[in-house]
Amino acid sequence: MQIIERVQEMSRWSEAQRRDGRRIAFVPTMGFLHEAHLCLVRDGKKRGDRVVVSIFVNPKQFAPSEDFAAYPRDFGRDRALLEGESIDVLFHPSADEIYPVDFLTQVSVDKLGLFLCAPQRPGHFQGVATVIAKLFNIVRPHVAIFGEKDYQQLQVIRRLVRDLNFDIEIVGHPIVRAADGLAISSRNVYLNPEERQAALCLSRSLARAACMVKMGETRGRVITAAVRAEIEKEPLAKVEYITLCDSATLETIAELGEAALLALAVRIGKTRLIDNRILKPVR
Ligand code: AMP
Repeated sequence: MQIIERVQEMSRWSEAQRRDGRRIAFVPTMGFLHEAHLCLVRDGKKRGDRVVVSIFVNPKQFAPSEDFAAYPRDFGRDRALLEGESIDVLFHPSADEIYPVDFLTQVSVDKLGLFLCAPQRPGHFQGVATVIAKLFNIVRPHVAIFGEKDYQQLQVIRRLVRDLNFDIEIVGHPIVRAADGLAISSRNVYLNPEERQAALCLSRSLARAACMVKMGETRGRVITAAVRAEIEKEPLAKVEYITLCDSATLETIAELGEAALLALAVRIGKTRLIDNRILKPVR
């Protein structure tokens, strides 16, 4: 595995691979790797002849009140995990390398950046779209893999790629969960044992919604109220939003007519967790 820190070197490597007719799969991450990241990497290995993983904690996607400085980092461990997966390149640029002092451009995906997590995280999806556009131009992948846990991010990237004509296939990887149902996340390390237990209310409430839909419920208001009630049984949990929405536009829907996204964000103590599930009405 090669470790590349410089933008130019990364671009040169990719250009050489492309010239040789190799298909490049790309998995962007913010590091502190866990099993879900490794699942994306394995998916990438099946889809490309070469795999590039980036580790970059992107300052532009954190609001000033958020955990940029505290975001968990362990480069040595990440490197060892990626060696174990036999990837080709670990791209690990510094913030100065990605954002030189005279950097001015912002990429903004209108509308999609207004729903779900956006009101609580001003500038977040602009930061994501900006860094992903840059990384795509530097790494020049044929295919890029993103997790469905960050469903809104995935939709923002799909739209970015379509609107700006990036010739890149975007793959959404299903949510990877711990055995007890909690969606795996780098932020789970913030949870103490009691909070870790309390966090199960997210996946439990989504399962409850799926169950209701299976029994024929289609009213958005009824489904989201039941999800809220399930979460509010947990004293350590504080709901930020619970939304049933169109899985492409992310606009709230009142009635489940076809498959739709049920997405939620919940604070467990100080830790903000997200989860989601696609609900399909019975016909
Ligand atoms: P992050 O390092 O948190 O930016 O995540 C890097 C990639 O891994 C993103 O595409 C995430 O959506 C994806 N990811 C993180 N956790 C999960 C999970 N539990 N299941 C599926 N994908 C995930």
